[in-house]
Amino acid sequence: MTNHNGRNNIAVHCDGVTKTYDAGGTKVTALRGIDLDVRTGELLMLVGPSGCGKTTLISVIAGILDHDAGECLVFGKDLMAISDRERTSYRGHNIGFVFQAFNLLPTLTAAENVAVPLLINGMSRSDAMERAEEAMRRVDLGDRTKSLPKQLSGGQQQRVAIARALIHGPKLIVCDEPTSALDHETGHKVMELLREVAVGPDRALVIVTHDARIFEFADRIARMDDGRIVKIEEPEREQEALVPSPSGRGLG
Ligand code: ADP
Ligand code: MG
Repeated sequence: MTNHNGRNNIAVHCDGVTKTYDAGGTKVTALRGIDLDVRTGELLMLVGPSGCGKTTLISVIAGILDHDAGECLVFGKDLMAISDRERTSYRGHNIGFVFQAFNLLPTLTAAENVAVPLLINGMSRSDAMERAEEAMRRVDLGDRTKSLPKQLSGGQQQRVAIARALIHGPKLIVCDEPTSALDHETGHKVMELLREVAVGPDRALVIVTHDARIFEFADRIARMDDGRIVKIEEPEREQEALVPSPSGRGLG
């Protein structure tokens, strides 16, 4: 309705974002002036060598780390300009985070893990569990709601983590190396799931990855080096319509 405003299709707007860590007197500059727009409806991958600032950048974007200078807007909102309390609430309703190491709570069942963001947002336990079980069905784990994380494979744990990141209907989903702890085939399935459940016209998905084998899932790839975005490109795709899907991608 308000699409005449060109900024409406921008999920994340970074302009000159810098960040220097100060660890016991040693300063490490992780971001040296990041300019980046993430559009709604897209899956943007952030790639680059270890230590180039990828985790720092998505932590700033997700509002879990303060930057030093420049501007970072999420759906037009400057998360550094609001109180901690407002920021926690904004994050709790609008942003989902998927970690490399899944970060599931070991003593909670899979469904309870998925319910956590809703419980934090104040939903009743019975409603939250009902929604969590529904979300687990969406990631094809409807029969594992009562399993503990350690009873699940890596791929299943990452699917639980994805369900948890999506349960509150966030408009921005940020994933830090979501396939790096998974074998190729499982990583592929996780990416297919993310594309299917997390990409939507009003949403944006930012995925940090080292894994060149999943680049084909991106709409755009932003390459980082030494705290800067050095290039933004569209991935090379095989001629999808003409070539059968590569082996190992079946849903077995
Ligand atoms: P990447 O995710 O691309 O591997 P990071 O964003 O984790 O890179 O790190 C960027 C730089 O910042 C690295 O030099 C790293 O050592 C440093 N760094 C990251 N986190 C901290 C921290 N909490 N304290 C001090 N230095 C840090
Ligand atoms: Mg990292």
